Parts: sequence; C-alpha cells; structure tokens
Amino acid sequence: MIVDAFGRRFRNLRVSLTAACNYACTYCVPDGKRLQAAEYELSAPEMARAVSLLVDAAGIEKLRITGGEPLLSPKFDELLPAIMQMPLDDVSLTTNGQLIQRKAEVLLSSGMRRINVSLDTLDPIRFREIARGGDLETVLTGIKLLHSAGLKIKINMVPMRTRNADQIKPMLEYCLAHGFELRFIELMNMGHLRAQGNQYQQEFFGMEEILETIGENYEFTRTEAPYDSTAVRYEIPDRGYFGIIANESEPFCSSCTRLRLSSNGYLYGCLSNAVCHDIKPILEMDHHQAMARLQTMLVRTLADKQELSFRGEVTVMKFIGG
Ligand code: SAM
Repeated sequence: MIVDAFGRRFRNLRVSLTAACNYACTYCVPDGKRLQAAEYELSAPEMARAVSLLVDAAGIEKLRITGGEPLLSPKFDELLPAIMQMPLDDVSLTTNGQLIQRKAEVLLSSGMRRINVSLDTLDPIRFREIARGGDLETVLTGIKLLHSAGLKIKINMVPMRTRNADQIKPMLEYCLAHGFELRFIELMNMGHLRAQGNQYQQEFFGMEEILETIGENYEFTRTEAPYDSTAVRYEIPDRGYFGIIANESEPFCSSCTRLRLSSNGYLYGCLSNAVCHDIKPILEMDHHQAMARLQTMLVRTLADKQELSFRGEVTVMKFIGG
C-alpha cells in the first residue's frame, strides 16, 4: 500500500469515460467547447484493464464513473458491466442526466445502487443559460425514473452569485420533498475561470453564504462525515440531509484519497495540479511488469497532491473527470 506523509492513500478512483459533453456549462468550459472528445481516448477494453490494474495496485475501494458526460460515451454499455464485476465496495456515476432515459436499461441491469445528477437550477430558462445545452424536463424525468426504480439519488449544484444563488432554497425543497441529498459544490477556480478575468471572484458563493441562505428557512445541524469525505454534511431534522463540498472554505486536501484516470489514459493525483502520468505504455505490459511500473507511477501521482488547500488550476474539469 502506498501512503504519504499525511497518511493519505488512494481509495477512490474517478474514471472519465470521455471528455465530450452535451452541455457547455459556463463554469466548466469557455464558449464553443461542447462535444469535444480528447484526441485519443482509451477503448473500453483498455479502460477496463487500466481500472483493474489500478484497483489491484492502489487498493481502490470506491469508483465513480464520470466525464465529460459518461452517458454520451459509446464505451459506457461495455465498460459498466466490466467495472461492476471488479472487487469494489462501491461503484457510482456522475451524470448531467440528459441521457438517463436512453441508458436506463443498462444502468438498472448493472446493479448500481446510487447515482449523482448535476443540476444547477429548476428554472428552465436559467438551465439553458448555465448548461448551454440539454433540457430541464428531460433531466427531471430521468431522475424520477431512476428513483422509482430504487436508486439512491444525490444532486450536485454549483451555486453562483449572479446565476443561481436564488435557486438554493427551491433546489433544497425539491430534494427534501423527493428524498434526494443535495450537494452544493463551491465553485472551483479551474480552467478558463482561473486563466482569465475576475469571473471566479464575482461568482463565488461560498459555504458561509449558502448556510446563511438555508438558515432563513430551515434549522439544521452539522453531522459526522467519514474521514475522507469531501463533503461537510448537515441534517434538517425530520426532513433530510444536505452537504457542501467546500473546496475553498474548508479544504479537504489533507485527507483526500482521490485518484483520477482521464479518458485519454493519464493519471492525476489532484484536481489542483496539471501534472499527469501516462498509463498507456503500462497497458501493453504483462501483469507482473505492469504492476511494478504502476506502483512507481502511483508514488509519483500521490506526491502531486496539494498539502493543505485547493490552489486552482488551468486544467478543465471535463478533461480530467469531475
Ligand atoms: N457531465 C457529468 C455531470 O455533469 O455531472 C460529469 C462531469 S462534470 C465535470 C462533474 C461535476 O463537476 C459536475 O457536478 C459539475 O457541476 C462540476 N464542475 C465542473 N466545473 C466546476 C467548477 N469550476 N467548479 C465546481 N464544480 C464544477
């Protein structure tokens, strides 16, 4: 087991199936970048081998399939059953929900028990303004379908001062009413936000203000979260839970256990570090040699983690897997 000076090791793997996305969210990509896959993306068998080696070499216990938009990837139908057979405690998916209805059969027959859907507003016009693609009703119908089939649903929302901070309460009410857990993700200073202008500073709407907003209508208490959880979790008695992924306000770097595999075969140890490691040559090797090389690569990847806090990076989330 590879452990660093902070006692951190890789337990959670995020796998980006493709960099392509059917949205172009204002906070994720600059104009006109929708639907672009990486120049070369791993095939389903290559990705399955990479994941299987990582599970063995790093001791991965939890895996999340992401992207880009994972349900858009032609690999999804072949890769999901392969991943579901690996010795993992938990497999989940993060999606924008636009293609849930099309992929419902594959999803439900896979045995996956939970899913995160990204949704920043319940207002159809605002939805189009933020996502710059897709349709709100389609997402809501998809969520309903999976929920009625018994999947546990979490909703991810990125609150922004001028675009959707007024949606915090309606979104929370919607989630509480349906038994979904709402996760607010503090805006991260990544990609074009980091590279240009002061849009990030203008739009950042952090934990303190989120809690103040919720406190106007609800009473809540902070609850215990697992050691390496990135979310601070709150309970609204007799109603449910919500969480805040407070990258800025309460950084979780010192207990971060995440490892990322990008769709084009690079390992990233940290969202806030553009350094990455090409796993593709390892996929050509026999098992013994591959495991030895991967151990060395994982030591270097673990060293890429930030010590204390998220500094921001010009890398784009959809390329390395949000
Ligand atoms: N397409 C899928 C989706 O929409 O959930 C998966 C990929 S998306 C990059 C994963 C998550 O990253 C989404 O919940 C999205 O809101 C979040 N995200 C992207 N850019 C972000 C940023 N700059 N700050 C905070 N969250 C961001």
